[in-house]
Amino acid sequence: MTPSEHVQEVLNYIKECSPGQDEFYQASHEVMFSLLPLLNEDSRYLDNNILERIVVPERSIIFRVNWLDDNGKVQTNLGYRVQFSSTLGPYKGGLRFHPSVNLGIIKFLGFEQIFKNALTGLQIGGAKGGSNFDPKGKSDNEIMKFCQSFMSELYKHIGKHTDVPAGDIGVGVREIGYMFGQYKKLTGEFDGILTGKGLNWGGSKVRKEATGYGSVYFAENFLNANDITIKDKICSVSGSGNVAIYTIEKLYDMGALPVTCSDSRGTIYHKKGIDLQTLKAVKEINQESLEAYAQLHNDCQYIPVSKYPTGGHAVWHVPCDIAFPSATQNELNLIDARELFKNGCLLVNEGANMPSTPEAIEFITQNGILFAPGKASNAGGVATSQLEMSQNASMAQWSFEEVDIKLRSIMRDIFYTAYNTSIEFECKGDLITGANIAGFRKVADSMIEQGAV
Ligand code: NDP
Repeated sequence: MTPSEHVQEVLNYIKECSPGQDEFYQASHEVMFSLLPLLNEDSRYLDNNILERIVVPERSIIFRVNWLDDNGKVQTNLGYRVQFSSTLGPYKGGLRFHPSVNLGIIKFLGFEQIFKNALTGLQIGGAKGGSNFDPKGKSDNEIMKFCQSFMSELYKHIGKHTDVPAGDIGVGVREIGYMFGQYKKLTGEFDGILTGKGLNWGGSKVRKEATGYGSVYFAENFLNANDITIKDKICSVSGSGNVAIYTIEKLYDMGALPVTCSDSRGTIYHKKGIDLQTLKAVKEINQESLEAYAQLHNDCQYIPVSKYPTGGHAVWHVPCDIAFPSATQNELNLIDARELFKNGCLLVNEGANMPSTPEAIEFITQNGILFAPGKASNAGGVATSQLEMSQNASMAQWSFEEVDIKLRSIMRDIFYTAYNTSIEFECKGDLITGANIAGFRKVADSMIEQGAV
């Protein structure tokens, strides 16, 4: 059997064993076919059945979360923790609270996390978790009740040397705080079992900013390697959550001009530049829709979802030099990619996990637009989480500048690891292949060294 046939066989197996898990299949498909240059050259990976082993999580935990709403009524949600790989270190990966969460979404995120974490060069395995709980419209008390119930089961499966979850969509410092408090109450221990903690109780400076800042540092390295600078570039950013806000902040620091942001209800196009202070007030403090931003700036354009171009997303139809998809999976499709190309876009730098569809990626890469895959370009968040774990282990707290310098250097290393691997496999600048092979090789070699466990 050729390596290509072998890959197809494993993918068929995934389809058979994981019905309805489309996102997981999509992520596995992308990773496995991009590994072919390595698999063709080194038979050890197929001889040791690494593909068959790596697509199966070491453990998947699904649990019921009962919680009391403000009317005293019992509500029930599903909780998940998929512990995918502990080959390189304790399981690590975020928790997502969003109504779209299901096992397939958590598996795709956990699978990507294995390779992302390997790329950071740090000792962390891959995992992901979350719930189909919808935080929107819930009172603070209801969020607390839910987080406490969620942790009442999750605490049995995590620990500072076993599994250290962090935040993701719908999970920020408030939710981490409520979960941390419940863990402490249940176990009587003050342990670094979560990252993204508050600065007063073990959090790291720059963790909040890390994914967005890291994404811009990655873009800067990629552009510089192509003799382009980031200064004065017009940037389209999607999303208006943690990743998007700190992408926009760092773009301003670097002299670029972010002109868009979006949420699940619409897009803001502010040609003179997004007003960061208003954006933080609307989204971080008041947790309102971006319509509130538009009401405060009559020189910006607000495009509600109902007015989006047919089949596309308004945020990618605005002329820009660099696109930073930073909201959610599959938010940039072929129609959007064509529009970006038409408008002269130079780089698509993924801030979210798997935001571009396979058809969009194919079009982007075939038409000479630079493409930074999320598992490399958004790895700054998890890398800084690991820096938080290091600070917790040594009871230290580093300064903002110290952590930021480390983050910048880690992002540079991730870029060059992916870039140099692309050169090694004769596809210079193809960072999908470069990042996937570099991440996979590190995990797979370690799996072989650790035996069939
Ligand atoms: P947040 O919850 O802070 O923000 C998510 C943003 O995306 C919100 O603006 C939200 O809109 C929007 N959004 C979510 N779902 C949809 C949807 N279906 N359609 C349109 N807009 C949507 O999450 P983060 O910023 O933390 O995460 C964003 C992405 O980055 C995710 O893919 C996440 O996995 C990835 N990521 C995050 C890391 C982190 O450190 N936080 C690390 C690495 C990757 P609304 O406000 O209306 O809900």
